[in-house]
Amino acid sequence: MNDDLLVKNLVPLTFVATSDFTAVTKGRSLPSAHLKEGSTTGWVPANIGIGAGGHIADKIPFGATGDLRLRPDPEAAYPITGVPGKPDTTVVFADVITTSGEPWGCCPRTFLRETVKALESEFGVTVRASFEHEFMDRDGADAHHPFSWRSFRAAEPLGSRVVTAMEAAGLEPENWLPEYGKHQYEVTMRPSDPVSAADRAIVVRDLVRDVFAAAGRRASFTPMLSPGEAGNGVHVHFSLSDDEGRNVFFDPNRPGRLSELGGQFAAGILNRSRSLAALFAPLSASYLRLRPNQWASAGIFLGLHNREALLRLCPTVEIDGRDPEPQLHFEFRGGDVGANPWLLLGSVLRAGLEGLREKAPPAQLREGEVNLRDSADDIPEFPHSLEEALELFAADEEVRGWFDPDLVETYLRIKREELDEVASLSDTETCEWYARVY
Ligand code: GLU
Ligand code: MG
Repeated sequence: MNDDLLVKNLVPLTFVATSDFTAVTKGRSLPSAHLKEGSTTGWVPANIGIGAGGHIADKIPFGATGDLRLRPDPEAAYPITGVPGKPDTTVVFADVITTSGEPWGCCPRTFLRETVKALESEFGVTVRASFEHEFMDRDGADAHHPFSWRSFRAAEPLGSRVVTAMEAAGLEPENWLPEYGKHQYEVTMRPSDPVSAADRAIVVRDLVRDVFAAAGRRASFTPMLSPGEAGNGVHVHFSLSDDEGRNVFFDPNRPGRLSELGGQFAAGILNRSRSLAALFAPLSASYLRLRPNQWASAGIFLGLHNREALLRLCPTVEIDGRDPEPQLHFEFRGGDVGANPWLLLGSVLRAGLEGLREKAPPAQLREGEVNLRDSADDIPEFPHSLEEALELFAADEEVRGWFDPDLVETYLRIKREELDEVASLSDTETCEWYARVY
C-alpha cells in the first residue's frame, strides 16, 4: 500500500472495492491503519453471482465453499471527502486473486488489464481513455431547460459539491452541465490510462449518488428513467499511441484523417458489437435507449462526428493552430451504467485488438446524417432486447472465449434471472425497477 497516501489521507476506514457483473461497487472496509503494503483481505467467489436484485443467482458455478482475496492496488486509492454528513474515507480498488496469489479468472479488472497488456506487447500501443456519464436528478423540482444556466443553478450546491469532491479524489473532472433530458446532468473526466479511467467511472457514480443522497435527492444513471424520454449514456472516449507518443489513429491523408489501423480497430469493434451488446447494454431497459432520434447510439456504424453512431470519430479543435493529431479519437456510445466499466472498456478494446490481429478491412466511415430507417444505408441493428443480446453473446464462441467459462456462465445466469424478474413488468415499471438499482 502507498504509505504516503495513507498518511496524507488518514481516515478511519478504507473501503477495499471491486465492481461486480452488474456494476455494483462491492467490498469491505478496514481500519486504514491496518492496511499495509502487500496486505489483502478476504472475498467470496459466490459474491460475483449476486444480481441487480441483490440475491445470488441459481445454479452458478460457485457454492458455499471457496475463498478469494482482494488485493488493493496502491495506484488506485481515491480519497472521498466533502459529502455532508458522511465521514471522509478512502476507496481503494482491488484485483481479485486466489488464496495462492494467482489472478482469479472472473476478476473484471484483471480482464481489462490483460487486454491493455496484449495491445502493448503485440502492437506497441498505449491506450488513453475517459468515461462520460449522464444521470437524472429524480427529485429535481425546477422547470428544467436543456443546457441552461437556470438548470445549472437549480442543481447547486450539489454540482459544486460533486466537482469539488471529484477534484479531491483525483478524478480530474472536465465538464459539469445540465443535459437535454428532464433534470438530466452530465459529468465528464479527463483522459488517463484505461484502468484508472474505469476505476474513476466507478467512483464518480457512487460519489454523485452520495452527494445527492446527502441532500435528500436521488440521482439515477439508469439508461432510461421513463420510456420515450432522453436516455442516460455512458460514453467511452479512447485513443491509441505508439511508443513515441504518436496517435496511431491519425493519418492526414485518409478520409476523416482516420488511419488504416484506426479503421481496422473500429471494424474489430463493429463486427462483434451484436454479440457484445450483452456486456455494454446489459439491462432490459438498455434496449429502450438504443433507438433513433434521441442522440443515443442507434445503429452499428462508425460515424464522423455522428451522435447516433455506435463509434463516433470525434471532432478536433484547431483554433489558433492547435494540432489535431493528438486529439483525434473514438467515442464508444453504446454503453450504459449496467455495464461494469472494466468489462465495458476491456471488451471494446479486446474487440479492437482482434480487428488488428486479423487485419480486418477498415470500417466504413459514414459522413453526414445517416438515415437509420432507410434500409439502403444497410446499417446493422442492435439486438432488440436483452434476451436477444444474451442469445447472441451465448452463441458467439469467439467472444465467449475471451472470458473464463465460469465468468460467462455466471453472467448469463444473473442476467437471465434479471429478465425473469422484470418479465411481467410494463416498460414504465421496468424503468422504475432499474432506477432503484442504478
Ligand atoms: N443522452 C444520449 C445517450 O443516451 C447522449 C446525448 C449526448 O451526450 O450526445 O447516449
Ligand atoms: Mg451527453
